[in-house]
Amino acid sequence: MSFLNSHLTKLLAISLIGVFFGFLTFNGCAVNPVTGRTQLMTVSEEREFRIGQQVDKQVREEMGIYLELPELRSLVKEVGQNLARHTARAKNLTYRFEIVDSPDFNAFALPGGFIYVHRGLLERINTIDELASVLGHEITHVDARHSAAQISKVELLNIGLLAANVATQGAISQFGDLVNIGAVLALNKFSRDAEREADHYGTIYMTKAGYNPKSSFEVMQQIQKIQLREPTTVESWFMTHPPTSERLANLNEEIKLIQQNQPEALKRPIQRNQYIRRLEGLAVGEWNGQELIRGDYYYNKEFLVKIKLPEGWQGQITNKQYTAVFGQPKKDFYVYFDIEPLRFPVTSEEYFREFESKLKKRGLQKEGITSPRLKHNALMGTYRGSSSQLGAVKAIAITFTQEANGYSLVGICKSADFSTFRPLVESMSESLTFISSQEALQLQPGRLKIHEVKTGETWDSIAEKYFGNPQEKNKLAEYNGLEVKENPSAGVLLKIPPTLHFQ
Ligand SMILES: [Zn+2]
Repeated sequence: MSFLNSHLTKLLAISLIGVFFGFLTFNGCAVNPVTGRTQLMTVSEEREFRIGQQVDKQVREEMGIYLELPELRSLVKEVGQNLARHTARAKNLTYRFEIVDSPDFNAFALPGGFIYVHRGLLERINTIDELASVLGHEITHVDARHSAAQISKVELLNIGLLAANVATQGAISQFGDLVNIGAVLALNKFSRDAEREADHYGTIYMTKAGYNPKSSFEVMQQIQKIQLREPTTVESWFMTHPPTSERLANLNEEIKLIQQNQPEALKRPIQRNQYIRRLEGLAVGEWNGQELIRGDYYYNKEFLVKIKLPEGWQGQITNKQYTAVFGQPKKDFYVYFDIEPLRFPVTSEEYFREFESKLKKRGLQKEGITSPRLKHNALMGTYRGSSSQLGAVKAIAITFTQEANGYSLVGICKSADFSTFRPLVESMSESLTFISSQEALQLQPGRLKIHEVKTGETWDSIAEKYFGNPQEKNKLAEYNGLEVKENPSAGVLLKIPPTLHFQ
């Protein structure tokens, strides 16, 4: 299950439901523009574009386009266009490239030529060539009509996305796209073959466009390291892909072939400094203008609230249904935080009673008795229910009112984990504090600094300078995709993140 990326899947699904009703016609077969093979295809190119066009609008609204660094944005577009020129559909499809304002390590493509890269991915990679490799992969998904083929498959199998969606509307589904995305996810999930094809043609396109194809291997290695250290960060991109080790082996073969046929391509200079320079000031981590997660804290500048997150938890601050969602997806721990404006002020008891009846409608049966008042006069209850994805679940709800707003924290986990989970949710509620407007004004996301290595500087001295600790050099070197065994040469640009405490 993808945690941070799930609302995108939902967007795509919602959009497709509309499109299904509108234009369902059976067109039979078509020749794939990239592979030249005949495949089942019910989606015309016109319809494919219209699906992309519709979802693109929602991506812009829901995820937001990252506009703070115009030079980085134009680089993404420029590299994308360089690659697009060499694609099979170059003449009859316009490829578009944008940075979405999300800290995930992710990139994705929509049918019809819409390619997006998350700012979190741009933060982690280190060269223009690596960027070309990521974009080349995503372009291939469109070029080879992978999404269109997926949609066709669903239509031909007569699964009926709408039917699937209705069938999965269990008790918990209203608690989010996070818990119940089931059948819908299938649409955004390309087959292994599609992924292999994307790596293969992506490497060909980047080589044709003049980049060093060795970078496709290097970016994959970097990803493998991040994956080992922070499994949840890359999960969203990788859950849909063959294992990294398999992709590395395939890319290695790919590069061997290039070595035979086009050895000069592997000698092209890797464009590192030209890339790193454009990252200066890049926002790091969750941040959407009103809310941010920095260190272990969630801050809401608009409602002047801060909450301490349990160690290792992640958050999603841009969510349609809730103010923010926090969790530890590896353990299937989810906490939904919401602030809702009230029509008129009510007491905490009245609010809690009403809230409980809503939970009941969603299939959560009250279990524990309502506890005495907590901080902020909050009330707390425990509940049980079931979910098609998690099986038996338990929930805890803590709510209070303040002026004309209702505040709630609802935590859901598998029944078996509830004794571990419950104190974590209680600690979050205890940590909820109101901050002053002055304090809120000071809150800024962490940003990347760029350091130019000077003669005589070492990993030790640079780690000491920025993090007060030479021991941090290992992480710093890895973050920059460089070897710690070898000190960086003078003139090399390094990314200095606000913290090296990766989740
Ligand atoms: Zn892919």
